[in-house]
Amino acid sequence: MQNKMNLLRDLQEVDQEISAIEATRQGYRDELGAFEADATRVQEMLDQLNDEVALLQQSEAELQQGLLKERDNVTRVEARLPEIQTQKEYVAVLKEIDVAKKANKDVEEQMQSKQQEVTTLEEDLKEKETELAAIHEKSEARGAELKQLLTESEEVLLKRTQTRESVAEELPVSLLRKYHTLFKRRGGLALALASHGACLGCNMKLPPQQYNRLLQVAEIQTCPHCNRILYVETEA
Ligand SMILES: [Zn+2]
Repeated sequence: MQNKMNLLRDLQEVDQEISAIEATRQGYRDELGAFEADATRVQEMLDQLNDEVALLQQSEAELQQGLLKERDNVTRVEARLPEIQTQKEYVAVLKEIDVAKKANKDVEEQMQSKQQEVTTLEEDLKEKETELAAIHEKSEARGAELKQLLTESEEVLLKRTQTRESVAEELPVSLLRKYHTLFKRRGGLALALASHGACLGCNMKLPPQQYNRLLQVAEIQTCPHCNRILYVETEA
């Protein structure tokens, strides 16, 4: 009986260690995940900016094409001027040229404003690229550290798991199952010390008769309040 209690206490100790190691490992993985999320976020911004720049450059190219065509038209119309016979027609053609030149000037201004937008976006792009590079640099250094920590803690975890298995092997299955359920439900504390007539797991008083039986260390008993398996400190 005492032996079983000692095994259970060993088991709980190693299980608590395993839980702590797993929590730490989860922390490492979360940290790694945060770097990846950061990098993805900035990369998405970069992609979006690149798309915007590409669109602007495309519409700039279209404007440029239209402008070239319009300039050709102006040249063609101007070439007709010497052949014109009547004053009326001459004025009409001059007006046509004037309108076309004004339209071209508008297009040139539109192109300039697109170029300005592209320049601004390219500055944004550069900024985001720097940000992304910084994230990569940081995540590479810390990431290598984290991976190392994960590897090391995995080795410790493996050792602890082997220990827990060898301890568990020596306990009856029904008791193990009870212990497991309690360990999960009671926040990693399946066993509670009983002292001065009370359960220290929930700090409730135990029935005096039960406490007396407990002191005799004759059977496995559970707290009537929190259900934890009770043990008493015995003089070694
Ligand atoms: Zn209790």
